[in-house]
Amino acid sequence: MDSIQVLDQQYVAGTYRRQDLALVSGKGSLFWGSDGKQYIDLTGGIGVNSFGACDDAWIQAVTQQLSTLSHSSNLFYTQPAAQLAQLLCQKTGMDKVFFSNSVAEANECAFKVARKYSAEKKGSDCYTILTLENSFHGRTITALSATGQDHYHRLFQPLTPGFLHVPANDTQALIQAVNQHKIAGIALECVQGEGGVLPLTAEFIQTAATIAQQQDIPLIIDEVQTGNGRTGKFYAYMHYGIQPDLVSTAKGLGGGLPIGATLMSEKVSSVLGPGDHGSTYGGNPVACAGAISIVNRMDEAFLAEVTRRGDYIRSALTGAPGVLSVTGLGLMIGIQTEKPAAEVVSACREQGVLCLTAKTKVRLLPPLNIPMDLLAQAMDVLRSACL
Ligand code: PLP
Repeated sequence: MDSIQVLDQQYVAGTYRRQDLALVSGKGSLFWGSDGKQYIDLTGGIGVNSFGACDDAWIQAVTQQLSTLSHSSNLFYTQPAAQLAQLLCQKTGMDKVFFSNSVAEANECAFKVARKYSAEKKGSDCYTILTLENSFHGRTITALSATGQDHYHRLFQPLTPGFLHVPANDTQALIQAVNQHKIAGIALECVQGEGGVLPLTAEFIQTAATIAQQQDIPLIIDEVQTGNGRTGKFYAYMHYGIQPDLVSTAKGLGGGLPIGATLMSEKVSSVLGPGDHGSTYGGNPVACAGAISIVNRMDEAFLAEVTRRGDYIRSALTGAPGVLSVTGLGLMIGIQTEKPAAEVVSACREQGVLCLTAKTKVRLLPPLNIPMDLLAQAMDVLRSACL
């Protein structure tokens, strides 16, 4: 263990199962460790580094803003937040954006909007948000309550009331829950990322959208892991021809700086008024300037390249010895291996490739622009680690 690891273990709360490696620098899809070794990055900082580490255009946007106006508070208008909100609305057809700093906050805002909308329309007893079993929506007490995985709940009772979980892809269970309860919102991830990189079926997503529309229930899509180009569309819901009422997004939007955003359709965009919600750091000019440089580059040609890279990984791994299945969408990939996933991830790291796990799978969320030659090298390593 090197000195960074020793210091961290002594002073940083032990909430993370860290890999046995300290990183000291990065550029694009490469990282360098305190061991002096170079690593190909298939983690993307868990889907955050959209254009890799220390991307030049992002650095330029961020540093320029940093020396112009670093923070001012939400008592004043600032250009980067206004401009980023406009860009996001233009790309999605949404009407307004609330900015926060994290994933969980982006979901919290969506839940607050759905609850207020439904309480005003259907009465104060209409507050239950329907989410899916095996979902993951964050770690604050309310986002945890939304998360449909009991093992996260056990130690933190009582949770926020008013969340109901139905099995993913079970259309009948969804219909039954909506008929039996007063539902204020339906929230889902199009691909359950932390749940094991499991895409929902198009039928289930479209049924949920239809029911939500027919019954005037706000539909919330958690695009935290799937969003900002990750699946080959700007947002994953765009694969399914649906139009959500609320979209929560973070991770890849910031390209490396913390930002959360909740996109609101016209139907719900004026639900929250002055004082109903807020955030000290939300819409920080530096984070927003970085995000603008990310979003501006996500055109159709770029998204087609994301799809091409995802297809390349799938064809490199599907049917390879030791690989049982490959799931996911675009550059969000889950690999069920014969060996335990943690063993495969360790073997890859020893050979200079960084990967993630999700449940029992090896998970890949590489930078969206990872060069094809690095990807080919990484696939050779991954295949040999699966043997
Ligand atoms: N929602 C989704 C879909 C996620 O994938 C994650 C994290 O991976 C979260 C919410 C929560 O993120 P955080 O742990 O940063 O709050």
